[in-house]
Amino acid sequence: MDRVPHRLQDIDPILYFLNDDGLPTTTVVIHGANFDHFFANRPDPDEYCCLISRAQLTGRVYLLSWRSGFGTYNPVRAIGNFLSIEDNAHRLGKSLKAVISKLPWSPPKRLTLIGHSLGAHVITSALLEHEWHDTGLYDVILLGAAIGEEDYEEYTGRKFWRRCASQVRHRIINCYSGYDTQLWRRSFLRRDQLECIGRARASHLSSKIHNISFTGTLSDRWDHDYLTWFDRVMNRVYPNRTRSTAYQVEALCDCPWCEDYVMVNANEDVECPSCNITFEYRTKDDQCYWRYEPQEIECPRCEIGTIVVQAPAVEQCSRCRKGFEFDRRGSEVVYSEVAR
Ligand SMILES: [Zn+2]
Ligand SMILES: [Zn+2]
Repeated sequence: MDRVPHRLQDIDPILYFLNDDGLPTTTVVIHGANFDHFFANRPDPDEYCCLISRAQLTGRVYLLSWRSGFGTYNPVRAIGNFLSIEDNAHRLGKSLKAVISKLPWSPPKRLTLIGHSLGAHVITSALLEHEWHDTGLYDVILLGAAIGEEDYEEYTGRKFWRRCASQVRHRIINCYSGYDTQLWRRSFLRRDQLECIGRARASHLSSKIHNISFTGTLSDRWDHDYLTWFDRVMNRVYPNRTRSTAYQVEALCDCPWCEDYVMVNANEDVECPSCNITFEYRTKDDQCYWRYEPQEIECPRCEIGTIVVQAPAVEQCSRCRKGFEFDRRGSEVVYSEVAR
């Protein structure tokens, strides 16, 4: 029986535009798969947008999002799921050049591809499948690559690296961790002995291949989460790099007042889109701060409605619509009525 094509199983790649500071370089970040998502789901792009924004990369920056979900962990189906996901990564790699060519400024003057985990597999498949010389491909950054040097038929480790290196104008940067347990798990799931690229230095020596060890430094349980520490990782890849100050850092956080999960500009005063309280999310310590503690007071007029008061301002009772001008004396809130 023929397999019925299922729309949800499609990879459905989407290029999310993240920033453009006017410099003539283009960076595309490709995420990997996630144990916590149901099969064929798309991981939350907002989360990646926020993490990537912290690095404030220059030029045009995109996130390539794809339906990469791993499936909830079920030992019976895990191997089947994993092989389908790898197959998806491979298929996406084969069409990566076509996807990138959809960029409005194609071909970019200087293109950098960054792939995390299975996103790195997407890139290596792409480098083997097509010629990239006409695309301005400058750097390729592999973060915890979930692919082995000898996974491609007809390629030895040496041939694989030579082919990849020949596709870039500048360098291939292999960021690896010897403690990467997620990648160890891949060998376990596949029941093979092939070690992933993201676990060791490249076996082939070349001036175009640069290895950076992150062994024991990624601070997550698996030593695999390069995107959560993307800013720090980029600082290692490009020491003394220039940050794009025009790149607004964003963050997802719980509003400290209404506790809604919201996406906000970081490191500046913002209003919570849910409750309008003003606070600042600082990436320095990932905490929320406010200058004035919000206070919920009873409406002095109708005594039924409540008004949330923060900084000195004119506020209106949501019930009787009466306006009050609030001020503060120390921690005490004082008010005067405002004529309509
Ligand atoms: Zn809020
Ligand atoms: Zn009132």
